[in-house]
Amino acid sequence: MSATFSAESIENLTPDAALDTLLSAHAGRPACLTCSFQAEDMIVLDLLRKRIPSIPVLFLETGYHFARTYEFRDRIAREWKLNLVNVIPQRTVRQQESDLGILYLVDPTQCCQLRKVAPLMRALEPFEIWFTGLRREQSPTRKDLRKVEQHRLPGGKSLLKASLLADWTWQQVWDYTTKNGLSYLPQYDQGYLSIGCEPCTKIPDDPNNPRSGRWSGTKLECGIHTFSEKGQ
Ligand code: SF4
Repeated sequence: MSATFSAESIENLTPDAALDTLLSAHAGRPACLTCSFQAEDMIVLDLLRKRIPSIPVLFLETGYHFARTYEFRDRIAREWKLNLVNVIPQRTVRQQESDLGILYLVDPTQCCQLRKVAPLMRALEPFEIWFTGLRREQSPTRKDLRKVEQHRLPGGKSLLKASLLADWTWQQVWDYTTKNGLSYLPQYDQGYLSIGCEPCTKIPDDPNNPRSGRWSGTKLECGIHTFSEKGQ
């Protein structure tokens, strides 16, 4: 962690203030945002693009997203002039299904590993700061999330992982979205609360458990937020 601020000192700051503190302590360091264009990502993206307009926006292009997600991604990328980086798996969907079958039905962990985790590991290598839209409230697996964490990638590279909305509630996310007139994925209006690949995303039965709509409740994480090793 930088000598000019501690992870603790950032915990009680607003997302704006935390971001300014982080960027001033790490000026010029290569940064990126992983973005699935969910409401949290749109807020972090809105904060970042005003400070670093050319920040790489990494979209995990699994080939299995909703058509509406692709349309939304392309519209926002055009309107906000984003530096969109589609992170592509080694196999196309057709190749994977031909070689290994419909993995999301039989082995979603392997499918996520091939289409999300491995491509992201490679894509993160050039960066020293990794912004996310994660929040503690999203899942029991995220309850201990800090706004700034040191992480080590499997290849040995260390980077800061910053989750500016870590302590926000869903209500705060939605308040910010409406107050600032941010666009949002149309699936929210249908009742979806956590939106990923189409075959693995359902409208949750329990609105208090948004992630229950992902992988039909059989798992909570795709793996992109659990593969790196968290430092102290
Ligand atoms: S979320 Fe589903 S379709 Fe997407 S990579 Fe994971 S298992 Fe495959």
